[in-house]
Amino acid sequence: MPNPGSDDNPLRVAIIGSGPAGFYVVERFFREQGLHVEIDMFDELPTPFGLVRGGVAPDHQKIKSVVRVYDRAARQPNFRFYGNVSYGRDIHLDDLKALYHQICFTTGAQTDRSLGIAGEELQGSHAATEFVAWYNGHPDYRDRSFDLSGESAAVIGVGNVAIDVARILCRSHEELAVTDIADYALEALRRSKIRNVYLIGRRGPAQAAFTNPEIKEMGELADADVEILPEEARLDPLSQADVDAHPDKALIRKIEILQSYAGRPPTGKSRRLSIRFLLSPTEIIGDADGRVRAIRLAKNELYADDGALRPRPNGEHETIPADIVFRSVGYLGVPLPGIPFDERRGVIPNDRGRVLTADRKAPVSGLYASGWIKRGPSGVIGTNKPDAAETVERMLEDLRSGAVTDPAHPDVAAAEGLVRQRQPDYVSYEDWLRLDGIETARGKESGRPRVKLTRTADMIAALKAAPDA
Ligand code: NAP
Repeated sequence: MPNPGSDDNPLRVAIIGSGPAGFYVVERFFREQGLHVEIDMFDELPTPFGLVRGGVAPDHQKIKSVVRVYDRAARQPNFRFYGNVSYGRDIHLDDLKALYHQICFTTGAQTDRSLGIAGEELQGSHAATEFVAWYNGHPDYRDRSFDLSGESAAVIGVGNVAIDVARILCRSHEELAVTDIADYALEALRRSKIRNVYLIGRRGPAQAAFTNPEIKEMGELADADVEILPEEARLDPLSQADVDAHPDKALIRKIEILQSYAGRPPTGKSRRLSIRFLLSPTEIIGDADGRVRAIRLAKNELYADDGALRPRPNGEHETIPADIVFRSVGYLGVPLPGIPFDERRGVIPNDRGRVLTADRKAPVSGLYASGWIKRGPSGVIGTNKPDAAETVERMLEDLRSGAVTDPAHPDVAAAEGLVRQRQPDYVSYEDWLRLDGIETARGKESGRPRVKLTRTADMIAALKAAPDA
């Protein structure tokens, strides 16, 4: 056979996962001059774009415009999307090896880290990631229920996901009604009785993981006042010394924003967001019926350890009322059948994108990773672009060095035939464009960007009902 990558033997690449990480791999491949590449992208969901659809907050529509870049790549003739096709259920590693020269996993981080404290299993204690997936209409989470009938909610963690959750809980119905939040979530939040939202960080303002635009936005909500205790907004001596020694403009601005909230008088808005620092949850406390009622916290002080400032209890405690608790302490990758996995870090072991054996001693031929399943759940959407470039560089290096072997069935039709046989209701990119049209048309009627279809069966039925829409 001619060399893979030529017109007579195009390089065939499978990508598992259609979020930003996967699409930046596609985009990078399509920019490679003189390479004939055919890319098939698989996703267990019928819809593409991963966290842009299922993670980015509905009131952050601008961020979602990044899908234009992915859409441009997806419309290329040498790209195919196979949605509603699950790796490990419908299609397996051996199938892919028989069809593709290279396989790249871009499955992200699909679960959450737990706190490991008593009471985490109580009714009303949830992973923030599940709440996010629920309000964004993810088919696997749309039937979860979140009891918002109490007065107080506690969000543990001070990253951007925690901010998203706290902000959605604080938004007024009018603010949410113009977004693409799932219909059932819009209705549940309209009836929400939550008035006090606590955002709880275990370290101080200088270590908060959220970014500046996100924390600034919290001070501009239509119907929620924001507050910080002045003593918690002040930097402890170690943090102050750290900031003085390494003045960072963005960090100084973040501290200024936070300090501007300290002592802000309430303006009579109906909800209140309290940002708390230097508190670690030690127990979620329930009532006799096993429902969350409060959260017990240990007060912390910071100490220097190996170049970082870490929290340790100072012996004092505090209990905050909470009728619902969201743990927002980071996402976690999940293992994929047949692929090595680093349980501790929640990633596929890899060297700059080349998958390694579990003992990290050798690369696994033909397998690659990019995005959160490669580096862990850090960074913003754009971080995945250089990350994908690094992985694709390795894939191209292996192609050039002759480390790529031809699969048994290196053709587009064989892959499509197998998918059709295993999952007759697969969703192509053209199908997705029709779903997109249906959702945006539904949105137009109510002045919203889109009204999402949130059940896989409904999406398949809508496609069958209007085959030429
Ligand atoms: P994150 O940024 O890593 O934040 C995790 C938070 O959990 C940190 O405040 C961390 O505190 C805290 N934490 C960890 N373990 C804890 C424990 N045992 N007890 C108490 N607190 C604990 O993660 P994320 O919020 O899930 O976000 C993931 C990534 O997506 C981030 O890169 C984020 O910027 C990005 N994202 C961006 C946007 C946006 O751009 N608008 C929106 C959503 C997500 P320590 O620092 O003390 O460990």
